[in-house]
Amino acid sequence: MILVDTHSHIFLEEFDEDRKLVIQRALENNVKKILLPNIDSSSAEPMLSLAEEYPDICYPMMGLHPTSVKDNWQDELNLVKSWLSKRKFIGIGEIGIDLYWDKTFKEQQIRVFSEQIKLAKKYGLPFVIHARDSFPEIFKVLEDNYSGLYSGIFHAFSGNEQQGLDAIKMGFKLGIGGVVTFKNAGLDKTIKKLGFEHLVLETDSPYLAPVPFRGKRNESAYIYNIAQRIAEIFDVEIQEIAKTSTKNAKEVFGFD
Ligand SMILES: [Zn+2]
Repeated sequence: MILVDTHSHIFLEEFDEDRKLVIQRALENNVKKILLPNIDSSSAEPMLSLAEEYPDICYPMMGLHPTSVKDNWQDELNLVKSWLSKRKFIGIGEIGIDLYWDKTFKEQQIRVFSEQIKLAKKYGLPFVIHARDSFPEIFKVLEDNYSGLYSGIFHAFSGNEQQGLDAIKMGFKLGIGGVVTFKNAGLDKTIKKLGFEHLVLETDSPYLAPVPFRGKRNESAYIYNIAQRIAEIFDVEIQEIAKTSTKNAKEVFGFD
């Protein structure tokens, strides 16, 4: 069985003490690939050095996270462009709109999201969307830029059934993580209606650890617990969830 963590920030300082062990535990739990979405200029170098240390396991993305869109967004966006011109990345991410934490830079967030979708098109790369309290704004940008199916992930998907269907119709896969193990989150019911054919697995480490680790630091090994819960929801073997989600991740990101 091969699992993929399509969204993991294990380059952050939360893992400075034991990163090697974290990767070892991931491998022991059949998590063979760990994809690394960038956050901003401060995370790019630690992320890239991790990717260089584990070239067959850790794959970097490049992008500016919506919560890092501030007054200096143009400088940050220029750095993203500069990195993209210098080396290979597996995707653009994570990008999007977050109106939960702060609405001050809403217009700038929309602009930066739209510009990074154009970068994804320019480089022929998939992109990873962070949407928080922003589904209408996200879909508006996606519709404005639409020119044939997209390739990418709705990361930490938390929408309703209709939003899931709309995302899938545009070509996206839905990233499912620890929230699916939370009682009363309702995500189990939503994905049950949507089916598991369009899902990929992710942790969003160090955030959103699944039950029974809820509230603690998340890590890529816990993909196993997430896969197990999804298998329960669909009443299938975990191997079937692993097979479909890994195939989807390979299809989107093109690794082998
Ligand atoms: Zn993330």
